[in-house]
Amino acid sequence: MKRTSTARIVPLLTLLAAALALPAAPVAAASGDPPEWTQPRAPLHLLGPITYVGSRGLGAYLIRTSAGAILVDATMDENVPAIERNIRSLGLKLNDVKLILVSHAHFDHVGGLERMRRDTGARVLAGRGDVAALRTGTPPGETSYGVRRFAPVARVTGVADGERVTLGDVSLRAVTTAGHTPGCTSWVMRVTDRGRPREVVFAGSMTVAGNRLVNNRRYATIVRDYRATFARMERLRADVVLPMHPEAADVFGRARSGTLVAPRLLGDMARAARVDFERTLREETR
Ligand SMILES: [Zn+2]
Repeated sequence: MKRTSTARIVPLLTLLAAALALPAAPVAAASGDPPEWTQPRAPLHLLGPITYVGSRGLGAYLIRTSAGAILVDATMDENVPAIERNIRSLGLKLNDVKLILVSHAHFDHVGGLERMRRDTGARVLAGRGDVAALRTGTPPGETSYGVRRFAPVARVTGVADGERVTLGDVSLRAVTTAGHTPGCTSWVMRVTDRGRPREVVFAGSMTVAGNRLVNNRRYATIVRDYRATFARMERLRADVVLPMHPEAADVFGRARSGTLVAPRLLGDMARAARVDFERTLREETR
């Protein structure tokens, strides 16, 4: 009986919160999530104006400009206090963050976005294909792990493929790398590192990660989009790859050993992701 009444009350509260335009209560970390996702770590300067400010397992990058700072991803709600501490420890105030760029609308990358947006007053920019998901707090597409909702983002601006975003002396280009989500976006910027121009790619996720590839009713073009993204990532110039799961490019190890510049890495990652994707697709089709 108790379970039944709780089950009835929770959706009612959710509806009430939505009706009052209150942010939904943060979803507690599921026990199956990797613990490093919510383990804080100290900021780590990478190159040029870019500093890692995320947790051990979820990427958040701060870019300083002549007119304030840009944050790439806010990660999960639980991580917001630690990311804000990291930003402050670099001598910045939270309202120095003027823009937040989004990689894609999955709970592990945007669960803390609305809180970060309110705390900083920053403008949020995301790939157009993910804007509806961000506004409703409901991830796009169907997955094998069900629906992991996140706090809806009250204000978000959609960015088209190829569009440029500029703050002060820093400019980034949005490159749509859909499949993982319809609006999954990689952000590309030019950095001068020890006198040499380097193309830095904040790489959107390319993994299948539980996405339904066959008969995905909420994302019909998912297979075509993934394949277009692999082809695109294989061609994209990337001297430095900064992914939203740092271990995917061993960001900390490379920073330590001075090997962040790795022009073949993104192509290798895309080819490996393509192999995994095609194998998963065959298994789902069987
Ligand atoms: Zn994801």
